[in-house]
Amino acid sequence: MAKIVCVLYDDPVGGYPTSYARDDIPTLDHYPGGQTLPTPGAIDFVPGELLGSVSGELGLRKFLEGLGHILVVTSDKDGVDSVFERELPDADIVISQPFWPAYLTADRIASAPRLKLAVTAGIGSDHVDLQAAMERGLTVAEVTYSNSISVSEHVVMLILSLVRNYIPSYQWVISGGWNISDCVERSYDLEGMTVGTVGAGRIGTAVLRRLKPFDVNLHYTDRHRLPESVERELRLTFHPSAELMVRVCDVVTVNAPLHPETEHMFNDALIGKMKRGAYLVNTARGKICDRDAVARALESGQLAGYAGDVWFPQPPPKDHPWRAMPHHGMTPHVSGTSLAAQARYAAGVREILECWLDGRSIREEYLIVDNGRLAGAGAHSYSAGDATRGSNEAERFRQ
Ligand code: NDP
Repeated sequence: MAKIVCVLYDDPVGGYPTSYARDDIPTLDHYPGGQTLPTPGAIDFVPGELLGSVSGELGLRKFLEGLGHILVVTSDKDGVDSVFERELPDADIVISQPFWPAYLTADRIASAPRLKLAVTAGIGSDHVDLQAAMERGLTVAEVTYSNSISVSEHVVMLILSLVRNYIPSYQWVISGGWNISDCVERSYDLEGMTVGTVGAGRIGTAVLRRLKPFDVNLHYTDRHRLPESVERELRLTFHPSAELMVRVCDVVTVNAPLHPETEHMFNDALIGKMKRGAYLVNTARGKICDRDAVARALESGQLAGYAGDVWFPQPPPKDHPWRAMPHHGMTPHVSGTSLAAQARYAAGVREILECWLDGRSIREEYLIVDNGRLAGAGAHSYSAGDATRGSNEAERFRQ
């Protein structure tokens, strides 16, 4: 019998939904490039329902309790008195979503001697101290591709909303105005601009593909170069470093994982090399950007806009400067947890658990850490180290 502790975000303030805006979600055959969608033996949820909140339970309770396991689901994740810390010492498996991350720091891993598996319901396992996980011999797995396209759609939306000055224009309507000059004094066309991505993996490439019809110049930087055929098809310009790329871009989108190489990559120095009035869109991880450097650049006009859905820590305290800085388009971390994405990553978590509990191998493409080293997708995209430092500040959100 295993004990599984699952940390999920809170239900809606009005209660768990009893009906939905739409009756169904599209059925996909496979992901771009051919990877198959999750293939659990069964699912105990209706795709399109809210699964990522506490009452949704990722649709796991019937399955796990049917096998005699214990499932604890909570949103109370920060601080020594949290349910998460209380339940951790005898947990075998922890499941967490990046949107409401249960930070698995070295101290927390040390407090959980039975822990063997950390599953990310979604993509991005930087909320786990991967260095400590390797040293302890934990397996870390995530549901690769489950929400990559969801995020790429969000990135395109954010780029357009910043460049076109959508959010302030919307606010004029809400406040009863018709202030056209106020709306358009910061409104431009994306057409003809140069857009660059830091990271051209699943999300970065999907963003490039979606932007091609906008007649923009597409640039990218990555640790590995894309196949020549893709570069030709999308008319891409490759740069060997972010520093070289950002100098020529009107818009920069960040689509690389958070790991020691990318932590605080966008600091005063790198932002200072961007064109004055460039836009920065970061849906990858908040800590890839230096919090105060971003706020300073918006104040000074070095950046014309910043948008994204990722913060550090999560949730951010009420006085986090990104809540109040000018010309931002920030939301809570939502881009990868649309109802469609939830159905995919809930099924992926179920597949991972079925494999683990049956003693079968987890798909290589889902592995981040295994056998004391970076493995699978993790070996390709991450570097060793810890990016969870400072996460205990998340406790201040509830104060
Ligand atoms: P992929 O692994 O497919 O792509 C990441 C890309 O970033 C890879 O091509 C990788 O390079 C590249 N990369 C890694 N380090 C660097 C670096 N130092 N400089 C430049 N490029 C680098 O992942 P996804 O595209 O699916 O996801 C990317 C990230 O987006 C996730 O790790 C996660 O943090 C975030 N995300 C956010 C979500 C949200 O809801 N906001 C949801 C899903 C993901 P290579 O592999 O060639 O070495």
